[in-house]
Amino acid sequence: MFPKKNNCPVFIKSKLAICIVSLFVCQQSVFADDPIENSSSKPKSILFVYGGWEGHEPEKCRDLLVPWLKSKGYKVTVSPSLDSYLDTKLMSSIDLIIQIYTMSTITKEQEAGLLKAVKEDGVSIAGWHGGLADAFRQNTEYQFMVGGQWVAHPGNIIDYEVNIIDHNDPITKGLGDFKVKSEQYYMHVDPLNEVLATTTFSDEHAPWIKGATLPAVWKKRYGKGKVFYTSLGHTANVFDIPEAFTILTRGILWSLGDL
Ligand SMILES: [Zn+2]
Repeated sequence: MFPKKNNCPVFIKSKLAICIVSLFVCQQSVFADDPIENSSSKPKSILFVYGGWEGHEPEKCRDLLVPWLKSKGYKVTVSPSLDSYLDTKLMSSIDLIIQIYTMSTITKEQEAGLLKAVKEDGVSIAGWHGGLADAFRQNTEYQFMVGGQWVAHPGNIIDYEVNIIDHNDPITKGLGDFKVKSEQYYMHVDPLNEVLATTTFSDEHAPWIKGATLPAVWKKRYGKGKVFYTSLGHTANVFDIPEAFTILTRGILWSLGDL
């Protein structure tokens, strides 16, 4: 029964009750956005695997990202070894793999552990530049998961532009085009990638690719798992560019289901 309009004390009490309930609901929704206070009391877990070619500064990238991940309340296992992909207990306990491991080689068993986690168990994977999309050149199923493979960076370190093409996606929302002085990645890519930003090549260093537009940021699926990738980040200081850091960190949050 609703209180009668002229029944002031009951009406006031009802309003007060609504206010208290509203306040409680607001508090809950604020906490729900915070990874620390996720609905499950356990913080989400990330495996950060680093190594491979030193030119991509895997240690510096680790030191940039791991503290940030921890500051967000995530549990982070940091590993310099691909053997982590063999650790079934570890692999079944994580929500996301972040990998920077350029070139190098991966054993059949290590690759199987990685691919199973993403494809069958729904673990996400996120990475950037060659750490994800120029790792394990012999492994085509791995490349099938990533959605692309680096093939060239004409002119090496050059000035180029990144163009945001999806202004509604939460990863790129609110960001404008920006300039980068680094390697501009020319890649072989999966047509099913959901491309969020691109970069267009000039004729300065390879005349026949003039006007070619390549993905620079994408997200996709591999089986049950989510994949996030950005081609930025030849060196860790590329992430000093606010847009580059925002894209990478939002991509990680999206991979975790927290964006
Ligand atoms: Zn590079």
